[in-house]
Amino acid sequence: MNVPNPATAGTVLVLNSGSSSIKFQLLDPKAGESVAHGLIERIGETEGRIVFHHTTGTDEHVGAIPDHRSGLRKVLEMLEGLGRPLLEVGIIAVGHRLVHGGDVFHEPTLIDDEVVKTVSDLSVLAPLHNPANVVGMEVAREELPDVPHVGVFDTAFFHTLPAAAATYAIDRDIAREHRIRRYGFHGTSHEYVSGRAAEFLGRDIRELNQVVLHLGNGASASAIAGGRPVDTSMGLTPLEGLVMGTRCGDIDPGVLMHLNRAAGMDVDAIDEVLNRRSGLKGMSGVNDFRALLELIAGGDDDAKLAYDVYVHRLRKYIGAYLVELGGIDTIVFTGGVGENNVDVRRDALAGLGRLGIVVDPERNEASGRGERRISSDDSEVEVLVIPTNEELAIARAAAEFA
Ligand code: ADP
Repeated sequence: MNVPNPATAGTVLVLNSGSSSIKFQLLDPKAGESVAHGLIERIGETEGRIVFHHTTGTDEHVGAIPDHRSGLRKVLEMLEGLGRPLLEVGIIAVGHRLVHGGDVFHEPTLIDDEVVKTVSDLSVLAPLHNPANVVGMEVAREELPDVPHVGVFDTAFFHTLPAAAATYAIDRDIAREHRIRRYGFHGTSHEYVSGRAAEFLGRDIRELNQVVLHLGNGASASAIAGGRPVDTSMGLTPLEGLVMGTRCGDIDPGVLMHLNRAAGMDVDAIDEVLNRRSGLKGMSGVNDFRALLELIAGGDDDAKLAYDVYVHRLRKYIGAYLVELGGIDTIVFTGGVGENNVDVRRDALAGLGRLGIVVDPERNEASGRGERRISSDDSEVEVLVIPTNEELAIARAAAEFA
């Protein structure tokens, strides 16, 4: 009998299934360490690709990946190739990142047939995401039938949003019939990061008013009082709120009618414009923040305007949440942009000394990757950078069911 490798005993496989991709990570939830992670992309196209990072290097596999099942099988083979059969490595659970739990799922949930069906029924609220999540659950449950599969929903953390923050001011009958309300997304990240911020400060989370800014390709802000969210920038869908890589965020809904009437666009065309051809990409031609900064350095006026719109929107949300919370203790930056971009952090909080918010330039610019404080010692509000780790949060939630 093989002896389980203690370094990888009790791992959780975390899956994030998209329509043509699966992101995966194998983690040790106790130690908080990643054993392997990677991405399967271009599923269903003539040439698919799997990138697999593990403790001793990176493997790449190029070739047709006809469907999610063959992609996942290939990943399981690669994991087994790490040295020993998968179950001996000690996978104790599979955690699924699920996007829309509607008003049904409020916490990590053990996946059975009924749960899969309900997530599928919620597809009307997230047509791009939930169907792919369903395929991911079905395939993974068949390939790994002997361990619990646990769904962790992007919306769950925000289910207690106060009614005033969760309600759109539209016809109540239409809203009820079509389940139109503000759900919020990136919840796993906002919950994880606000918890880590309290630990970093050595404070009880119940005493803290926090503004969390999750700035990645998608971006969202939240106001959190005593560990519970009181507002967040994303709504019925992840399109509302901040300026994002390719999404517009807040917009006058009249623009949609105008695009229909004046430009002759149907609903799918408008969806495409607002979700994929807007945000930084729409305004500047690039959605990646590093590329945007390069354009700005080269004197590109559109890129500069895109940056200014991005920062303007961010400041608007920070101001709104400061008042909603009646004062704040911490502002936390996370996500690829929030963790790495010195300029955005500086400009988002510039000139707010009168509100007790002072960023220390040296701390902000110091290279570093971990959890850190970037406010000055005399700043009343602690400004922190806390790297998010949604996979670890999902792995820990899933391990509870093992
Ligand atoms: P996702 O929402 O896909 O998880 P991430 O949180 O990884 O996205 O964030 C991606 C964004 O972070 C991109 O716009 C990328 O340019 C930006 N980013 C990553 N590293 C840096 C960096 N060192 N400096 C500036 N921006 C960065």
